[in-house]
Amino acid sequence: MSDRNDDLFTRARGVIPGGVNSPVRAYGSVGGAPRFVSSAAGPRVTDAAATPYVDLVASWGPALLGHAHPEVVEAVREAATRGLSFGAPTEAEVELAELIAARVRVGEAVPVERVRLVSTGTEATMTAIRLARGVTGRDLLVKFAGHYHGHSDGLLAAAGSGVATLALPGSAGVPAPIAAQTLVIDYNDLDAVREVFAVHGDRIAAVIVEAAAANMGVVAPLPGFNAALAGIAHAHGALLILDEVLTGFRVHPAGFWGLQQAAGEHYLPDIITFGKVVGGGMPLAALGGRADVLDALAPVGPVYQAGTLSGNPLSVAAGLATLRLATPAVYEKVDAAASVVATALADALAAEGVVHAVPSAGSLFGVAFLPEAPRSYAQALTQEAWRYPAFFHAMLDAGVALPPSVYEAWFLTAAHDDDALAVITSALPGAARAAASA
Ligand code: PMP
Repeated sequence: MSDRNDDLFTRARGVIPGGVNSPVRAYGSVGGAPRFVSSAAGPRVTDAAATPYVDLVASWGPALLGHAHPEVVEAVREAATRGLSFGAPTEAEVELAELIAARVRVGEAVPVERVRLVSTGTEATMTAIRLARGVTGRDLLVKFAGHYHGHSDGLLAAAGSGVATLALPGSAGVPAPIAAQTLVIDYNDLDAVREVFAVHGDRIAAVIVEAAAANMGVVAPLPGFNAALAGIAHAHGALLILDEVLTGFRVHPAGFWGLQQAAGEHYLPDIITFGKVVGGGMPLAALGGRADVLDALAPVGPVYQAGTLSGNPLSVAAGLATLRLATPAVYEKVDAAASVVATALADALAAEGVVHAVPSAGSLFGVAFLPEAPRSYAQALTQEAWRYPAFFHAMLDAGVALPPSVYEAWFLTAAHDDDALAVITSALPGAARAAASA
């Protein structure tokens, strides 16, 4: 029986490539028509057939407070009455930059002295890399297999393994000479980091790393990994770009970096990229870092970057309202909700004898159909991923919208109350049965 989602998907595919404006939305790995969302509030989204779901996508991270938080919506509405875009500086964007810098100040450590606002995480990482190259006068970039930093050319380089090889394009349309500027090595492998720096050290501008990997499933850095990375990069005159687009302001008031400082792992990235939560669901992202690095950006320095809609007043209003509402109590609530769901997930899969791990990094977690949490992309790819479509659809049928890929994190919000959590925990045993018999 076709419903309105099926009809819309057919219509969408007639005019939008694959029917979606970002590939993973298409349910490609789980099958079926994606649910077209007509509205969302708190922990729920409602689809085009008027079916509500408890949502564990949270717009892929931004909805830390839940969907359509009344104070965030009001801030945007109020900003809209004063104009949609000016192409001129505003007081609110200064406030947001100050707030970002203040949030990631932990004790004596001040990783962010300057902030530039952009519109997407892709722009933030792309600019961070140009900046690192401009500041160091070097071209090469080191990234980790399975880490996602947006869709700019140099960051779509294919995954290599072990020792860095000159990468081939990971997407059609990326010129090989551009991909070759990115050296891809295995995550959580300090020997590989030392080796790539031993061979190419004086040509490496920066190493970019997700603060905790969450785009190959959740794969936390091993204890000491991020700090060692900073040490090795700095010893070779290269910069560390910490990508907190996904983790920033989501797992801790000061991001995953803040969580690590609190746990006693001290290191200073040179540039941090932010996105998602920082824009409260509106198109906004940022890069921040030391003054001497960020001041290499135009108009002070020679590294060019610009944007008609950068610091858009509606986005800034949403970001400011969200960060102001994201008090420590919000993080405690998200942590507690995540722990309820992660525990119920592990219990349900164990009860059905499904080989699984529930890897986590702060309040981020996901499922991996592997006996232990993976440490690298290569390990993550060995899982019984074919169990996920049945699991996903059983959850969907029971009213829970999971990310439509096993390689994505599950996102809780501060709006996931007892009712919402009960819908999830009661759906899990059936989904585990579906995974077991897949
Ligand atoms: N970096 C990381 C770690 C991300 O998770 C993402 C998006 N999922 C990006 C960068 C790119 O952000 P955007 O989709 O806003 O361009």
